[in-house]
Amino acid sequence: MSIIEIPQTIIPETSFLDTIPKAPEGRYAHILMIRETESYSVFQTDGTLNIANVKRGLKEAKPLIRLAMFKRKQTSPERLTGRELLRRNGITQNQDEKAELKYCDYNEHFCQSCPDCVYYGFAIGDSGAEKSKVYADTAYSISGYDESHQQFSFNALFEKGNMSQKGQVRSSFGEQDHIVPQVYFPSVITIKDVTRNSFAYILNNLLRTKRYGAQTTRTGRLDNHVIGVVFADGEIFSNLKLTQAIYDALSDAGQLENTPLNQTEVLENAKTVIPELLSNDGVIFNHVHGNALDELISCVTTVTTDADKLRTFLEETNAETTEYSERVIQSEKKK
Ligand SMILES: [Zn+2]
Repeated sequence: MSIIEIPQTIIPETSFLDTIPKAPEGRYAHILMIRETESYSVFQTDGTLNIANVKRGLKEAKPLIRLAMFKRKQTSPERLTGRELLRRNGITQNQDEKAELKYCDYNEHFCQSCPDCVYYGFAIGDSGAEKSKVYADTAYSISGYDESHQQFSFNALFEKGNMSQKGQVRSSFGEQDHIVPQVYFPSVITIKDVTRNSFAYILNNLLRTKRYGAQTTRTGRLDNHVIGVVFADGEIFSNLKLTQAIYDALSDAGQLENTPLNQTEVLENAKTVIPELLSNDGVIFNHVHGNALDELISCVTTVTTDADKLRTFLEETNAETTEYSERVIQSEKKK
C-alpha cells in the first residue's frame, strides 16, 4: 500500500517492489539530474576545491581539469532534508524523550529503522551496519575549473560588523576559492530495490534540498533539474560519462564558448545524449522523459506538497522501513 499512485501508463507496476527484499532483486530506479549552482558554492576538502583531471569528452580526448562534487557532498544535505521532515511530522526525534517516537540522531545514534537509516544506510562501529540503497558517485562540472571558479579574499569583521574599530582597520585575512553561479554538474542518483515509497522519499529530498557545500557557510545554493528517470534491471552509465557526452554535444553545436554555459542548451543537450548512452549499457530499461516525466514527478509532488498527505506518506514509509528493519536488520543480529 502506498499513497503514491503512479499510473501504469507512465511506468509498469512491476518497476517497483512492494516490500524491501532481504537480498537484492535487480530493480533499479536512476534519477538523472543536472545540478546547477545558483550562488557561490564551495565543495572542498582540506581547504581547496575538489578537482579532477579527466578526459574532456567521449570523443574529445584532451584532458580538462574539472570541479568535482564528491558523493557525500551530495547525499549528506539530502539526507538532512528528509530527516528534518521526519522530525517535523513526528516520526523521529532528536533526543530520547518521548517513548512513542524513534530516537534518531545523524551519525550519533542511528535508530536503524526510520526511512533515512534504512534507505541511505548506516554504520555503527562493531554493532552493525546497513548498506545504502541509494547510490551516488562523484559529479563533475561540464565546464573546466579555470572558467568555473573565482577567488575571493574575505574580511574578519568586528563585533558590530564594522571593518574598523577605534581607528584600527582590519585587513582581509584569508582567501577562498568559490565555484561561480551557473556551473553544471550532471548527476545520477540510483535507488536499488526500489519501492514506490523509497522512490518518492528520495525524489522529494532531491527536489527540496537547495543548499550544498561547506557546512560553515551554507551559501551554496544549488538547483536540481530532473531530466529523466530510468527504471532498469541493472546499473547504467556514470556521471563522468554523462558529463563527457554532454560536453561533446555542446561542442558539436558550437555552444561551449558561452560563459556561463546557457542553461537551456545544457538541459536540452543532456536530454539528447541519454538514449544513446542507455543503448550501450546492456540492460533492460524504461526511460521516462518529456510529459511522462512531468506526470511522474507530479505523482510525488501532489503528495509531498500537501501537509496531510505528506504526513500519511511518511507514516507509510516509516511502516515499510520498520517492517524491513525487524525482518532483516534485527533478525541478522540475533544470529
Ligand atoms: Zn533512523
